[in-house]
Amino acid sequence: MKKILIATKNQDKITEILDLLSDINMKLISFQDIDFNENIEETGRSFQENAVIKALTAGRKTKITTLAEDSGLEIDALGGRPGIYSARYKDGSDMDRCMKILCEMKNISKEKRTARFITIVAIYEPLTEKVVTFEGMSEGYITDKPLGKNGFGYDSIFYNFALKKTNGQAKLAEKNKVSHRSEAILKAKQFLIGL
Ligand code: IMP
Repeated sequence: MKKILIATKNQDKITEILDLLSDINMKLISFQDIDFNENIEETGRSFQENAVIKALTAGRKTKITTLAEDSGLEIDALGGRPGIYSARYKDGSDMDRCMKILCEMKNISKEKRTARFITIVAIYEPLTEKVVTFEGMSEGYITDKPLGKNGFGYDSIFYNFALKKTNGQAKLAEKNKVSHRSEAILKAKQFLIGL
């Protein structure tokens, strides 16, 4: 059976990706399964560059077909921040980062709070040494307080237009029907099936 390395250490991303790929007829493995401990620096200037860096680095080292992703939140009123810096926008917890954003946006009216989550998935195939990428996006706005305890990262402050509630108020199955990550992963899945 073909092996696919899911190249992320983020357990929340792994949970969502495994659910989205649960019916694929391939063996999905993670860094833990192969004792891969290297820290991959995100030195790119875009989601695209970072996703490709992660897939190439892990795929070239392991010689396994590798799926990596880079994602984040772009807020219009903050000029696109936190963007590629979403994971490192502030030291501390996910809630600390949410509170920093709510604080920065405290005087911004509802109609100007538009935002989107973006994911780029990159797949590296060692046989051909090629990388392909797939994009997913979900649109919404930033709430004025955290709502819901599900999900991770900025889910509790992102009202998702497709869900009509925050990602944090949605169950995994609901989020996985409409999320930026599901859009990109489902495109990647079609590609993997065709390999
Ligand atoms: P990276 O792709 O590892 O650089 O980090 C992505 C960061 O963006 C995460 O640590 C979260 O802060 C945020 N993020 C990405 N996707 C989601 C999501 O589905 N929900 C909430 N936050 C997310």
